[in-house]
Amino acid sequence: MKAALLERVGRMAMVDVERPVIAQPDEILIRTKTVGVCGSEIHAFHGTHPYRKAPVILGHEAAGEVFAVGKAVKKFQVGDRVIVDPQWTCGKCAYCLRGDINVCPSKRVLGTANWQGAFGEYFVAPEEAVFHLPSNLSYAQGSLIEPLTVGVHVARRANLQAGESVAILGAGAIGGLLSGVCHTQGAQTVIAADIKQHCLDAARERLGATHDFLLPDVQVAEKIKRVSDGGVDVVFITADDGSLVNLGIEIAKRRGRIVLVALLTEAPLQFVAYPIISKELQIVGSLMSSPADVEKAIDLAASNQVDVEAIATHRLPIEQAQRGMELALTKDDQAIKVILGF
Ligand SMILES: [Zn+2]
Ligand SMILES: [Zn+2]
Repeated sequence: MKAALLERVGRMAMVDVERPVIAQPDEILIRTKTVGVCGSEIHAFHGTHPYRKAPVILGHEAAGEVFAVGKAVKKFQVGDRVIVDPQWTCGKCAYCLRGDINVCPSKRVLGTANWQGAFGEYFVAPEEAVFHLPSNLSYAQGSLIEPLTVGVHVARRANLQAGESVAILGAGAIGGLLSGVCHTQGAQTVIAADIKQHCLDAARERLGATHDFLLPDVQVAEKIKRVSDGGVDVVFITADDGSLVNLGIEIAKRRGRIVLVALLTEAPLQFVAYPIISKELQIVGSLMSSPADVEKAIDLAASNQVDVEAIATHRLPIEQAQRGMELALTKDDQAIKVILGF
């Protein structure tokens, strides 16, 4: 089968590899139709991802068709349209047993050395990670459900309540969809900030952002405070810039929450502790999602409560994976989300 391989840092190559096979009775072999390029894959392309390392077949924002099923598979048949939760968990640890599968210490992630990704024409997934794609959603829309799921989980980690104000620092694919999630959950003020105007436009015009600020702007903290009654309840750090954490600390209200979403791997964070103490801020991390988040994201997309297409700027054949990665990296040509197709 054909696959786009991250051969080394900065270099994608089309290769011919063995088709994966079903090894366990609960596994499903899926034929990839579309796959999104994620920010985490850009980290891998850059050589800065903690565990996605070249050479590897990346790709976890996958939508496709069931090609074969293992003997114990119950809910899926050949030909079904599906998406996957890109986490293959142990199912036995304390975290898995209580539903927090995203923090399973022995989980595998799709698109890594441990689990070959959907930049290949076929990939295998366990039945519990596979979900039906509603018939009113295209495969490309299906590929946008994984980043939407991340947004659903992030809002849950923030314990976001209706009527609250939020600031989303980084309005790329995740930040944009997160804006849509916050809007549907009743956030009253949704502020988006980014270095790209086209990302802000998508958030404001189609994803419920009420205010947008183009960065860099030395007065942005003052401006955000002015439109949010002195500060926001929740700050999301969805861009890879450690200095945004300090901005977040500055614009958070007393008892506010700051959720770290972008990987921020460039350098150790530096921030002043006293405002965290004096305002009793909480800083929490957010990693991927749980199955309940996937179900919710499917519902938000299928009912068009969140317009996932708002971020889908580029469709390219898998053979153009190199260009797709470069577009996703630079956001040139007004790119937000690049979707590769087979
Ligand atoms: Zn992703
Ligand atoms: Zn586990």
